[in-house]
Amino acid sequence: MFKPRLALALLSLLPAFALAQPAGWNDPFPPHKVMDNLYYVGTSELASYLLTTDEGNILLSSNYESSVPVIQAAVEELGFDFKDIKILISGHGHPDHVEGDALVKELTGADVIVSRLDAPYNESVRTPSGRSLPIDRLVDDGDTVTLGGATLTAHLLPGHTKGCLAWSLPLEEDGKTYYGLIECSLNGQFLQYVNNADYPNIAADMRATYQKAREIPAEVFVSSHASFYGLNDKYAKLQARQPGDPNPFVDPAGYQAHVDEFERTFEAALARQEAEAANP
Ligand SMILES: [Zn+2]
Repeated sequence: MFKPRLALALLSLLPAFALAQPAGWNDPFPPHKVMDNLYYVGTSELASYLLTTDEGNILLSSNYESSVPVIQAAVEELGFDFKDIKILISGHGHPDHVEGDALVKELTGADVIVSRLDAPYNESVRTPSGRSLPIDRLVDDGDTVTLGGATLTAHLLPGHTKGCLAWSLPLEEDGKTYYGLIECSLNGQFLQYVNNADYPNIAADMRATYQKAREIPAEVFVSSHASFYGLNDKYAKLQARQPGDPNPFVDPAGYQAHVDEFERTFEAALARQEAEAANP
């Protein structure tokens, strides 16, 4: 049985054991339309999104190298051609979101777009198959990615990684346009806050990021991990949805509650680490 809490706990091990894959994270998940031209093509825990346009498609996040065949199968199950992916927007600088970038580029020829502040991480990666990760374009806060009339806008939310980027886009359903947000990660439960030589201002960045995240008027809310936005429950609601029922991914209150919850776990982790440092 899948346990989101256990999955979050296992995520803490990733920086130390970069190639360890938590059990079940690569299991297939039914691909589905989120809304409009945005589709979920990720695994049971590691989210990937396909944004389709008239001029080819954009993939957000390749996940582990071993996730790529699962993503490809999901894209094809929806009736799209994997080779129509023209742009890959790399995930944040942790192996479970970027390790497959090289394989996706080999299979599709896509341009790979990377957050400038996470690029040193991508450059440091050697995948299990020995590949290094490609970078075709670097992006910063507020930059946009456009293809075939679709535009995604980058929102820098640093802390979980220095260059963590969320992406916003308009999504339309039944004549109404919603503010869509593909969140990065606000998970601050397991990071190092005290004496972090590699990222001295991490705690201040995390605090500012929760404030900034709260001000994003997200209506359709998805994230880099399925468990972060309750995909299992929302997918069940999607399956049961009747004409006139709301789209379960429209969840502005759930987004705000998610920001609050993750801020609390961050503050608790920070307080714990500060107390331990004061009384070693
Ligand atoms: Zn991460």
